[in-house]
Amino acid sequence: MSLLRLPSSGIRALILRDDFPGFRARVTDGVLQLGLHEWQVTYEERSGSDTLFRTLLHEHLHARHPASADAHAEARAWRGYEEGFADGFADLLVREKAGLRPDNVSYPYYVQAYITLAVACDLNVETLWRAVWAHRPGTVREHLVRVLAMLREATTGNTLTVRQEQGLQANADRVFSSQRFRDRPNEREMLHAWKLFVP
Ligand SMILES: [Zn+2]
Repeated sequence: MSLLRLPSSGIRALILRDDFPGFRARVTDGVLQLGLHEWQVTYEERSGSDTLFRTLLHEHLHARHPASADAHAEARAWRGYEEGFADGFADLLVREKAGLRPDNVSYPYYVQAYITLAVACDLNVETLWRAVWAHRPGTVREHLVRVLAMLREATTGNTLTVRQEQGLQANADRVFSSQRFRDRPNEREMLHAWKLFVP
């Protein structure tokens, strides 16, 4: 991760579990747990090893800094802020930097929400995700709109008004809501919704 300029504060322990239904991997408080059954099933799929590599990157991105005390609160109501970042950024890194071909992302709705947000704000999505990376898990919601405002000002010279910032926050809360976990993304609708606030 250092080579990608994304050093992680680390995973301090690894637990291999036979019984971890539905999970290939999960990081909690710096402990990476791998579900061996799901790992084996994925490995045997087409592009399985590429997908597993992305899974490890995804978990490393979650472990970038120690989670804030509020991480559970953000995850309960708006898990898309963190999952869309980790899943989308891991996918971009394995496809564009490593040239791998993993399976579809795990959180397509949240990933597409970030991609369309970057397009609406005239930003490169990698630039956006690198800026999000600087913030602790559990604080992405708190920082995202400020991050957007700063990046946009730096790249286009345009500042966001308070009204635009409030609109972006409200729309972000809507699309990154935990209830949208299984929704199918509609790129055109998403882009349109963001552009209401950054025309
Ligand atoms: Zn995750």
